[in-house]
Amino acid sequence: MQSLGGEKKTSVWPALRVVARAMPEASLPLTIAGVIGLLLVGVFPTIYKLATGALIGALPAATRAGAGSAAAHRVDVALAVLAASFVAQQLIGPVFGQVVDALARRVTGHLRGRVITAAASPPGVGHLEDPATLDKVMLAQGVGTAQITPRGVVIGAFNIAAQYVAGTASAILLMAYRWWLPLIAIALYLSVIRRFRRDFFRNVMAITGKAESLRRSQYFRDVALTPVAAKETRVFGLGDWVVDRFRTSWLSAMTDLWAERRGQWKTMVLGAVAFFSVEFGVMFLLGHSAARGEISIARLTVFVAAAQGLQVFANLSDHDLNLTWGAPAITAVADLEALVEDPSVALPGDTAAAGLPARDVRFENVSFAYPGRNEVFSHLDLTIEAGKSLAIVGDNGAGKTTLVKLLARLYDPTDGVITVDGTPLTQLDPSSWQRRLSAIFQDFTRYQVRASDNVAWGNPDLALDVARLDAAAERAGATDLVASLPHGWDTVLSRQFKDGTDLSGGQWQRLALARALYAVDAGAGVLILDEPTAALDVRAEAELYDRFLELTRGLTTIVISHRFSTVRRADRIVVIEQGVVVEQGTHDELMAADGRYAHMFRLQAARFVDAPDSEDESETIDA
Ligand code: ADP
Repeated sequence: MQSLGGEKKTSVWPALRVVARAMPEASLPLTIAGVIGLLLVGVFPTIYKLATGALIGALPAATRAGAGSAAAHRVDVALAVLAASFVAQQLIGPVFGQVVDALARRVTGHLRGRVITAAASPPGVGHLEDPATLDKVMLAQGVGTAQITPRGVVIGAFNIAAQYVAGTASAILLMAYRWWLPLIAIALYLSVIRRFRRDFFRNVMAITGKAESLRRSQYFRDVALTPVAAKETRVFGLGDWVVDRFRTSWLSAMTDLWAERRGQWKTMVLGAVAFFSVEFGVMFLLGHSAARGEISIARLTVFVAAAQGLQVFANLSDHDLNLTWGAPAITAVADLEALVEDPSVALPGDTAAAGLPARDVRFENVSFAYPGRNEVFSHLDLTIEAGKSLAIVGDNGAGKTTLVKLLARLYDPTDGVITVDGTPLTQLDPSSWQRRLSAIFQDFTRYQVRASDNVAWGNPDLALDVARLDAAAERAGATDLVASLPHGWDTVLSRQFKDGTDLSGGQWQRLALARALYAVDAGAGVLILDEPTAALDVRAEAELYDRFLELTRGLTTIVISHRFSTVRRADRIVVIEQGVVVEQGTHDELMAADGRYAHMFRLQAARFVDAPDSEDESETIDA
């Protein structure tokens, strides 16, 4: 059975190895306590059995010899041990449970942290768009594996280990009767239980191998259940369609599992036969020996109890269920970590980028294609001069945002080179270079945290300083906005949290601008404004761009806009069409050239002339 990573994994052992390494890292004291606990929990039932045997063995003699005799003393000791081991079992069991549960929670937290670190650590974003990585992330969170998480695995592993310790102790007892008997019994039990476990593991893999179908069914479920899509599903009458899609993807995820299950009846039959043969065989032998007087009643009692104790090796409990279902979630963590360490994801480069660029950023013969897609750029040449503003225009899908993503090193070109003051971008430390940039993207993030964090996250390395926040807000025109918030900078910007509030599109915009400017204050040298204006009316949009260009004069700025009133103010304009720079120059040069830019400019101007009653829009032509 193939796991998602393509490696063969046919058992829970790889997961157990990951957990074994994670436990001491999550909590060493709890790990030690857990191991001691499992030994004690495993051993006390055997002491109890021995004491029972000793008691039964001593009773007849004690009855004959009376109180105060040596035999009576043996009874007293046996009773004391019996009571003590009984009490110890009662006490240690719950404590062991608590310790293991606490450890399991720690391990879950530890592994969750590793998933977040792994997903967030690569400087690029390509891995987050890669279905294989997304499947790992989903699996590592336990989705698709019946939501059983590392917690179940840790608890399962400890309890099964404790049972095995108890089983081994029972085996040692039974060896005193016939040394080979427990060995045969255990071998038979284990061979059957292995089959059960293998079937069980196959079931789990049948479902985890369907992560994509599960992801899809989960998506349709969300579409049906979350308020965001509720309006459209109703207006367009999508309800039945969504339910149908959900059903189809869910069935596709489940078919293999059901097929696996159908073939597993043989294991059940085999298991039942083996179990009853062993039980019957052992009991028959013991009964026979006792009847012939070969073993005393006391020994018979101990051996029968020991034989029953062996059954743990044939026991498929909830702990197995948790262990097996949770295992793929755990191996996914290790797989994910391996995946992001791949050089194609981790991105090479270790030269510090401080102070760059002083001269220019050049795209030289750059080609780029998103994985599995056609090329967005082939052989693109472009120079971005330091200290100047550059506007990029072009139709939707021309590749403007992709260009910015390459510049920000969210992806590396598939061919050609991008240099910064002559140094290839691939030699610069990706994070160090990214700190040199500040950007407001089309789909900039509305962080559901305090207003202050929304701005300060422009550079999380800086200590939070209200004066610096105020300065950024002022420059972004957000001072009144912050003052109007119920708790000022401390207001949480989400209605989902207590005392939280939400902002309008334009208000979010200003905060995003403040964040970008805060990053500049903190040392970013290149500013990018990538049409983050979807939520803005025409006037607000013009104001944002004007403010941006005004505030960033003398800095290296890149502006992507479809508004020519803005574009014309840039020091230089490039026109991109189907991944190629088709024109570049100043506004006047491009108008004089009377090419693509001039055509687009006039087209937009004409549209606004046709709409003279719009005060905002007429500004476009006048500008
Ligand atoms: P623009 O910003 O000029 O509108 P983009 O750079 O966003 O254009 O997109 C250029 C092309 O790349 C488009 O065909 C788009 O569909 C494709 N594209 C953009 N982002 C991705 C992505 N993450 N994965 C695959 N294709 C993408």
